Amino acid sequence: MRNTIGAGLLLALMSGSALAAAPQHHDAATQALNLAEQAIALRSVAGPANQTPQVAALFRDALVKGGFAPADVTITPYKDTAYLIARWPGRDSSLKPLVISGHMDVVEAKASDWTHDPFKPQIENGYLLGRGSTDMKLDDTLAISALLELKKEGYVPRRDIIIEFSGDEETTMATGAIIADKLSNAELVLNMDGANGTLDEKTGKPDYFTWEGAEKTYADFRLTVTNPGGHSSEPRSVNAIDELSADLLRIQQHRFKPEVNDLSRSFFVNAARWQKPDIAAAMKAFAANPANEKAIATLSADPSFVGRIGTTCVVTMIEGGHALNALPQRATANINCRIFPGHSRASIMAELRDAAQDPGMKIEDATEGSVETAASPMRPDVVHAIDASIHAVYPDVPVFAAMSSGASDSMWFRSHGVPSYGISPIFIKNSDSFMHGLNERTPVSAVGPAMDALLVLIPELSH
Ligand SMILES: [Zn+2]
Repeated sequence: MRNTIGAGLLLALMSGSALAAAPQHHDAATQALNLAEQAIALRSVAGPANQTPQVAALFRDALVKGGFAPADVTITPYKDTAYLIARWPGRDSSLKPLVISGHMDVVEAKASDWTHDPFKPQIENGYLLGRGSTDMKLDDTLAISALLELKKEGYVPRRDIIIEFSGDEETTMATGAIIADKLSNAELVLNMDGANGTLDEKTGKPDYFTWEGAEKTYADFRLTVTNPGGHSSEPRSVNAIDELSADLLRIQQHRFKPEVNDLSRSFFVNAARWQKPDIAAAMKAFAANPANEKAIATLSADPSFVGRIGTTCVVTMIEGGHALNALPQRATANINCRIFPGHSRASIMAELRDAAQDPGMKIEDATEGSVETAASPMRPDVVHAIDASIHAVYPDVPVFAAMSSGASDSMWFRSHGVPSYGISPIFIKNSDSFMHGLNERTPVSAVGPAMDALLVLIPELSH
């Protein structure tokens, strides 16, 4: 069931954030919000009764109703899900298309754990509540409504604009890989599943806006130690669990070389002023010299920064032994790594093998659904377009690039050499960000300015 927007909420939508210029495109913003509510009401969670195909149908209907040719909007079923690709033909078919990317699936959410049913969207106290309100159904519908608004205004892009939505980004990421294969001729990708604007915790005013041009590579490595085993009443000096434990401790001690790239440097230099003084000093020192030991120690000790200064690997699962009264014949462990852009999984695996110093330990790459990627270049046209779009709405807010510690559909495009940029035009407080967690919500006041920013950004990159 869809909620209707009350007068007070409409006012919230129209008033925008404290420092923003008055929103210009109320109808498009309202449409995005309404469509997001309809999408949130569909339980697009992997598994039985997955309603991602219904989200795709909802989005297709909105696109066709708004002027997309029915033949240009395709939904392709895939296992329990589906993906959607829609094309808006540009004036010059010789140009490579601009791709706008999102995903329709959401992370599981249990109604019993939430204050509201996660799949019954509501607007309350100025927030849109529901699973997918942040990650990322509202971003999807902002992109759809922005394109429809441009069509309504008579805009015709020079290059094709392709909008696509994957159906399993939160789980296996298979449809994102298929889409990127099909669209590997793209000029560039705007991934709406990206970084966003940050609001000040106390004042609610915009602090800064970040976008992403790189992300770390996800990898899993399986370690195995085997030996002959035997009766536990006759222990030997070799024991698979003991050996694996020693290997794991040596791996724990191993530190991957701290490093910095253009995107992480941009983040450290620009975002330092909103951090505590010790962290801020370390961020600046590290950006200037990634070998600065004091800075490394400070940033490594903080879980929200350790992943930004290099590759990290950590043991996440162990298994071993087969009986309470037998010497173990086998012990295994999973090492989960988040690899800094530019390194191959093979090279990280070799480094782990060296760190373990155990010729008897077997190590295999057990990664599924991930591919290694380099950082996308900080293209001047993209940097300019993002700056212009955010500054059109928030004139004085700093805008800068960053690197994501998580993985998104951008990796599939980057693996084809297509630059992909993560950018969600929503401004939100860090304390309101409950992606993947409980009581996910997004301030309604962010919707109008986000629409206005997109209506600058999309033409900038397609005119
Ligand atoms: Zn997402």
